[in-house]
Amino acid sequence: MAVVETVKLSKHFNDVKAVDGIDITIQEGEFLVLLGPSGSGKTTLMRMIAGLEKPTGGTIKIGDRVVNDLPPRLRNVAMVFQSYALYPHMSVYNNIAFSLRPLGMTRQQIDDKVHWAARMFSIDHLLSRKPRQLSGGQRQRVALARAIVREPDVFLLDEPLSNLDAKLRAMARDELKQFQRQLGVTTIYVTHDQVEAMGMGDRVAVMSNGRMHQLGTPQVLYQSPADTFVATFLGTPPMNLVETDSCLLGFRPENFLPEAAHPDTPHPLVIDFHLTRVEFLGSDRLLYGTIEGADGPVKVVGDLPSVIDYTPEPGTICPMMVDRRHLSYFDKSTGQRIAPTPFALRGLRDPAGTA
Ligand code: ATP
Repeated sequence: MAVVETVKLSKHFNDVKAVDGIDITIQEGEFLVLLGPSGSGKTTLMRMIAGLEKPTGGTIKIGDRVVNDLPPRLRNVAMVFQSYALYPHMSVYNNIAFSLRPLGMTRQQIDDKVHWAARMFSIDHLLSRKPRQLSGGQRQRVALARAIVREPDVFLLDEPLSNLDAKLRAMARDELKQFQRQLGVTTIYVTHDQVEAMGMGDRVAVMSNGRMHQLGTPQVLYQSPADTFVATFLGTPPMNLVETDSCLLGFRPENFLPEAAHPDTPHPLVIDFHLTRVEFLGSDRLLYGTIEGADGPVKVVGDLPSVIDYTPEPGTICPMMVDRRHLSYFDKSTGQRIAPTPFALRGLRDPAGTA
């Protein structure tokens, strides 16, 4: 276990700023997720921590040591790639034992370690097989066992679940999180999947274009996004953004509900909603339509749990409400979050009289 710290860390490939001045401290034993769209610099940041890519600027510290000039094998980090990169000609046993062989351990010590790692990931019955004789999920476990067998200070995982089907993936997510807790190893996990990030991360760093937009717990990112990028990158459907006279007003679909279904909300802002379509998703219904913004109609979405026994009629104007505590405000030009300010919205009924 070790603290990992980057200071003004950058990597430029000619004129591409793949990573552009990242300051981040990952605590001992923490599970930190790097989340961002394709090309945002997640893998490059991780490869620099692993020692596979040389920074253009800034420093990387693991524990008390600045590791910029240390080769990967001296950093005591283990990385699992999306492809798993198992040796195809070796048995599972030898794949796991491989990295222990140069350490001068006895055969018995190696054997104990391999069995410990294999038991950890429930693959001890597969030790004599070759990788081609394994399912995708089993290969992923072998890759994880191989990575932890040296008991690294830091575990680096680059989209390790992306080759699994949806069901297996949900299970693997849960298991991986449990292993990580059990081992207590500082973990950095790269993904572009927000569900994975929110479900697994103690904290999540949201990146785009080589920069970090926000670092925080999943709850903070979701409830108080630092800017419109984070607001719309997290959440399905994303946060609704409506231009008002002075700013952008944001509210999540699940907080935008028919007034008739929630008569007792303490701080309601009521908005006339032109409902065009209702989409039934099982546990929820999505309500599609428009409200009047400063420059005309704006498309917004509401998310109404199916347990609420009320269905508004498409083609009608439905009074919807948002609890004021669930509103976010963003600067129109910079997209940055701002403190709540009074705003104006055409077509708005406001029982509290403060809008
Ligand atoms: P993905 O989710 O698609 O893996 P990512 O967020 O991990 O994306 P990176 O792979 O770190 O992003 O890439 C960041 C940027 O750096 C991209 O614009 C990419 O094209 C560029 N890049 C990465 N590696 C190189 C390289 N070796 N040479 C030139 N450009 C590179």
